[in-house]
Amino acid sequence: MKKSSLSKIICLFFFVAVIISGCSFTGLDKYSQNLNEYNINLQFNDENKSLSGTQTVNYINSTDIVLTNVDFHLYPNAFKRQETTQKVVSDFNYDRAYPNGFDSGYIDIREVKVKNKDATYSFCESENSIISVELGEKLYPEERIEIKFSYEIKIPNIHHRFGYGDNTINIGNFYPIACIYEDGGFVHDGYHYNGDPFYSQMANYNVEITYPSKYEIGSSGECVKTEENAGCITKNFEAIVVRDFAFVLSEKFEVQKSKYEDTSIYYMFYKDEEPAKTLQLIEDALKTFNNLIGEYPYSTLTVVQSNFIHGGMEYSNIVLISDEVEITSEYYNVIVHEIAHQWFYNIIGNNEVSEAWLDEGLTEYVTAMFYDLNEGYGTTYDDIVANMLNSYLLFVDVYEDVFGGLDTSMNRSLQEFGSEYEYTYMVYVKSVLMLDTLRDVLGDANFCLGLKTYYENNKFKIATKEHFIRDFSKVSSTDIKGLVNSWVEGKVQIKN
Ligand SMILES: [Zn+2]
Repeated sequence: MKKSSLSKIICLFFFVAVIISGCSFTGLDKYSQNLNEYNINLQFNDENKSLSGTQTVNYINSTDIVLTNVDFHLYPNAFKRQETTQKVVSDFNYDRAYPNGFDSGYIDIREVKVKNKDATYSFCESENSIISVELGEKLYPEERIEIKFSYEIKIPNIHHRFGYGDNTINIGNFYPIACIYEDGGFVHDGYHYNGDPFYSQMANYNVEITYPSKYEIGSSGECVKTEENAGCITKNFEAIVVRDFAFVLSEKFEVQKSKYEDTSIYYMFYKDEEPAKTLQLIEDALKTFNNLIGEYPYSTLTVVQSNFIHGGMEYSNIVLISDEVEITSEYYNVIVHEIAHQWFYNIIGNNEVSEAWLDEGLTEYVTAMFYDLNEGYGTTYDDIVANMLNSYLLFVDVYEDVFGGLDTSMNRSLQEFGSEYEYTYMVYVKSVLMLDTLRDVLGDANFCLGLKTYYENNKFKIATKEHFIRDFSKVSSTDIKGLVNSWVEGKVQIKN
């Protein structure tokens, strides 16, 4: 399992050679043409922690069939009723998540128009978490249509992606976002407390947010306009070719800034004794993954501390890091992990419900690689992998003893994992062990070229296991299908 430091140096040299010879800055514009356009106007009401919104979606039919309706996720509705909160938070985490007891959150759709005329629409799935909008006409492939929503959003008092605590107001997965059309229908997968149950296409956003001027804001995209009026600030954010739009408000934020090449970096925090060090870590992570995987093509990267029960959460251009992570090395690890998600989930998308291992596994693996490319952060790749192996074997032993057996497959939907532990071990830990084995089989140079090729071939698109197998097999002239499938399907025997 040990990799010589010489092979790592060769690997690092190899990345540099590829960057110099193969890449040029292309910008995002050419990828922004045939995407949905979201124009969102939001007014934040501080008193009752709500948002009044209007949203115009310039929707493009990117399927190859004629559409007569378009479905949108309404994720906030998963937070609506106490009886169904097990969808957003496990029983184990319930009390930590709701420090003041249950509080309802939801999106109330007030009006839907298609081409400026009142539209027919219906709700479906648990808690009305999907709205299906009738278009009133046929929408042929590559044609566009304008769909307008008016809504009120109630933000719940929960330390979650969508919720507020004493320190921050986290506003993620809050607006109607188009479901992906796949295999003859719109994908309706809803909330689950395991993992990040989201799946979306790249889109372009223009979002105007008005909020009391006592708040600082961290957000996806780039602020292109700011106005201040009667104690309120209005900011316009533009984000192109992103998978999602999210923002966080806080009265307590201090801000540290830096720049790496064309990307402005913002670190927003309220509890950090050495913020300059954290800012340096963020810059190191951005630089490392830029070189290791492929170019970070956006003008901003924002890291915000927040009230959040889990370690961290990734959104396009912005990541949330929990203020409950007390140990500095763990806090740093979460930051590196969430930044790596900018490549695996955002730039290269995948179905995070049915193939969570694909983004979580690669994210966790390149996070381990980060420590060999950046010394001084207190751990190494070899230590991380050795710890994961021991921990995995112990977990399997204990689980089999207690329950008499364990499903070790990784290719399950989020709701099919028996517990948060099982999900974590099969999706994060086992993926790292698989990728470590793959790197041993392919050699460092081929593995690193595989990462770059996977990026180049799948950037701004949706990738699956088949794309991963195709790209890593091709660059190494090695068929990795059998190896990957044996791990993913749970057939491989892992030993110390
Ligand atoms: Zn993750």
